Amino acid sequence: MLKRCVMVAALALGGTAVAQEPVDLDMVSRIRQEAFHNSQVMETFSHLTENIGARLTNSPRMAEANAWTRSKFEEWGLANVHDDAFADFGRGWEFSSASVEMLSERVQPLHALPKAWTPGTDGPVEGELVHVEIKKLADIEKYRGTLGGKVLLLGEAREYKRGTEPDSHRHDATSLEGLQQFTVPKTAAADRAKRVREYRERQELARAVNTFFAEEGALAAISISSWDNGIIRVAGGGSRKAGEPVGIPELAMIAEHFNPLVRALTAGQTVRLRVNVAARFTDEADQPGYNTIAEIPGRGRKAAEIVMLGAHMDSWHTGTGAADNAAGVAVMMEAMRILKAVGARPERTIRVALWSGEEQGLIGSQDYVARHFAAYPEPTDAAQKALPASLREPTGPLQRKRDYERFSVYFNMDNGSGRFRGIYAQENLAAMPIFEAWLKPFHDVGATTVATRNTGSTDHVSFDRVGLPGFQFIQDRLDYFTNVHHTHLDTWDHIEPEDLKQAAAIAATFAYHAAMREERMPRKPVLAPK
Ligand SMILES: [Zn+2]
Repeated sequence: MLKRCVMVAALALGGTAVAQEPVDLDMVSRIRQEAFHNSQVMETFSHLTENIGARLTNSPRMAEANAWTRSKFEEWGLANVHDDAFADFGRGWEFSSASVEMLSERVQPLHALPKAWTPGTDGPVEGELVHVEIKKLADIEKYRGTLGGKVLLLGEAREYKRGTEPDSHRHDATSLEGLQQFTVPKTAAADRAKRVREYRERQELARAVNTFFAEEGALAAISISSWDNGIIRVAGGGSRKAGEPVGIPELAMIAEHFNPLVRALTAGQTVRLRVNVAARFTDEADQPGYNTIAEIPGRGRKAAEIVMLGAHMDSWHTGTGAADNAAGVAVMMEAMRILKAVGARPERTIRVALWSGEEQGLIGSQDYVARHFAAYPEPTDAAQKALPASLREPTGPLQRKRDYERFSVYFNMDNGSGRFRGIYAQENLAAMPIFEAWLKPFHDVGATTVATRNTGSTDHVSFDRVGLPGFQFIQDRLDYFTNVHHTHLDTWDHIEPEDLKQAAAIAATFAYHAAMREERMPRKPVLAPK
């Protein structure tokens, strides 16, 4: 097949000319045609959100998502389709209904949803509401012997803050220009001791409170949603680990229903609530979690080398995990489908990973990277082992696996569902002219910017942490951080289909070019963890 390659003008960086980066415009055209005119991204996205729904790590619906995505990959002719187990995540959990009603001094339904990994009420329960404020271990004693048969209102009221910014945001020239600025970081070494101490205190307090509330025989506990405007923003409570105290049924309530309850109790009124939560742990013992993996095998001498695309498939439990992150999963799956549909024959293997356990600390991707590419040695002392990897003391030099040298690059999507406006280079300056070249055929659909800065908090960090090139795209925020992120509004309705099509075209193009370029993606130096 005839290939028309154009050379994008060489860029000068630090006075050194960088080699011209080839862009296969014939392939980009075919990818754009398939992505823009033959898209299946909304079918994939809709199935994940509207048919399967929320996908809490290790829940039955996450298992359904693993099985369904495997079947799609097989239908599309991908190779090596399998679920990749990572050890001992914890137990599965699911809920099917939740209601809270005020019975006195007036009657009103109240909007609240349960925290994941907390128990159900086992049918409706009724009790008097009491205000409880526990900030440190010593506070527990104030309440001992007083909470039996009560519903607990945890914490204080929060003053309503009217928004001053628009609900939804797309980048413009000015905000994209702002992303080009790099802030030299302050020295952070001293931070860790403080963060470790705070983490341990939080864990200890949570365990003690869970045990205390259960011993007291309190019926349920209600805390305030972290966002206003009727939005229920809630993550986990209790514990996902078998053998740890899970406490009592616990719900997050919209601020506008929580605050009046605080005012009523402060005014000395007697408030009675009826609470009914159907929730259950779906396993007795801790279970592994599962990432779903598939490949388009490479051909020829670079076939053992690896280019990866990925997004996390697990979600929180109250919405349908639409922007976080069925959008990313649908886009990366669509990128693989497009590459098959256009007959791409990559030289390196292109592998897609749909991670699990991301919401609990990048657990699926981190474990995968450790088993396949590299890891710092596991700590031997129990206190260190109990910390999340990001808080542990350095344990020694990086231990590299065989595939560390075969790895080229990983591209992630997890900043909501907004279209790609460019890419964060994670301070890998040698990657920048390559990305500039690959983005050029997408300037007309708004993807123009290569920023030196880092972005964090999701699965590319698992690669970046061990010195492997891992990147995430710059995206339009839309209403991700005003309405959607970890809320019950994270649903199909907040998605723009054209944005997903645009993102899939760019993801497919980046994977293809990374799989075809002469060299693997340049690497930045591995920094020893501090
Ligand atoms: Zn996410």
